[in-house]
Amino acid sequence: MDIEELKAAIAREIDARSPQLGELSRKIHDNPETAMKERRASAWLAEYLKENGFAVETGIYKLPTAFRGRYGQGKPVIAFLAEYDALPKLGHACGHNLIATSAVAAGVGAKRAVDELGGSIIVYGTPGEEADAGKAIMAHRGAFKDLDAAMITHPGGGHQVVMNALACQTLDVEFFGRAAHAAADPEAGINALEAMILSFNAIDALRQHIKEKARIHGIITDGGEAPNIVPAHTAATFLVRAEDDEYLDILKEKVLNCFAGAAAATGAELKYKWADVRYAAMRNNMTLARLFRKNMQSLGRPIPLGDNSKWSGSTDVGNVSRLAPTIQPMVGIASKDVLIHTPQFAAAAATKEALRSLLDAAKAMAMTAADLLADPKTIAGLRAEFQKNK
Ligand SMILES: [Zn+2]
Ligand SMILES: [Zn+2]
Repeated sequence: MDIEELKAAIAREIDARSPQLGELSRKIHDNPETAMKERRASAWLAEYLKENGFAVETGIYKLPTAFRGRYGQGKPVIAFLAEYDALPKLGHACGHNLIATSAVAAGVGAKRAVDELGGSIIVYGTPGEEADAGKAIMAHRGAFKDLDAAMITHPGGGHQVVMNALACQTLDVEFFGRAAHAAADPEAGINALEAMILSFNAIDALRQHIKEKARIHGIITDGGEAPNIVPAHTAATFLVRAEDDEYLDILKEKVLNCFAGAAAATGAELKYKWADVRYAAMRNNMTLARLFRKNMQSLGRPIPLGDNSKWSGSTDVGNVSRLAPTIQPMVGIASKDVLIHTPQFAAAAATKEALRSLLDAAKAMAMTAADLLADPKTIAGLRAEFQKNK
C-alpha cells in the first residue's frame, strides 16, 4: 500500500467510527469533571482504546486518572495526548472533551499505519491540565522520555499550528495577623487583609517594569470573616508567567518581595508555597508542524502555520515539548470572538461542527504518524530540530 492509499484508509477508519467517537465526546462534555477528578472520562477513554485493541494501563505514574494505551511494538514511538479535565463551574469551556476524542481517534486511525509499517502508537491520558500541570507531574515521574513525536490538538476560536505558551508557576500565599474588634480595639489588631491589598498594589507597581510577555495575576481566596473583625487571616493564589524558565525565576523573586514588603509594613506574618511543578514554555517542532499542516490541507482544511509573535496562556504540553518533538495545533470550532474559558465556548464544544473539525485534526495527526513511520529520515529531521533547540 503506498502512503497516499494508507492515509485514505486512515481517514476511512476514523470516519467509520465517528458515531461512537461523537457519543464519547458528548458523554465527557455532559459529565464535566475537574482536574485530577476525571474518573469517568478516563475510564471511558481507556475502555474505548481497549475495545479497539490497545494494551491499556490505568493509574500510571501514581495518578489515578492517568492512563497509557499502546498499540504495536518497538520504535519509532508516536504519541497522541488526551486531556479531559473541565473547569470549575464552566464545564468543558476549554473543549477538552474534543481533545480527548481526537487523541483516541488518532490512535485508532494510526493503527493502520502500525500494521503496515511497524513501530508503536501510544495514547497518553493526561489528567489535570487546567490546574495541576498533570503532564509536568508525569514528566517528572519519567513519562514521555522515549517518544519520537508527540501530538495533541486543542479546539480554539481560530486555526494555527504553532502554539506559543508561557512558562507558569502557581503561588499560594497566606498572611497571619491578629484579630481584634475593628472599632473598639483596632490598635490591638494586625490586619492580614491590608497586607494582602498592599501586596496586590505592590505587584501592580512591579507590573510596569517587567518584560512584555510576562504575566502576574491572582485572586483572594480568603479575605476575612466580618467587617467588624480585624482580619486575622487572608489567602490568595497567584499565577506567575514568563516567556522562559530563566525569566520566570527572576520574576518569582520580585513577586515574593512584594508580599514580604507588605508583611513588613503591616506586621502580618507571610507564609507561601510555590507549586511543586511548573508549566514549561512551549517549544514547537516546526518540522512536525509542517507535516501536520500538509495533512490538514489534504483534507480540505487550510491552516496557517501561525504567528510566532502571538502568545497564549500556559499549557503542560510545554513540559512534553522539552522531552520530545511536539506540536499542539489549535483548530477552530467557533468564530474568533468566542473565547475559550467562557460559557459560549463550552456550548461550541458540544456541536457537530466542532466534532467534525477535531476528527479531521485526528485524521491529520494519524496521517502525520504514517509519514513518520514510513520514513526514518523524517524522524531524523524532527530529532535534529529538537536537539538544535534544546
Ligand atoms: Zn483551558
Ligand atoms: Zn485547554
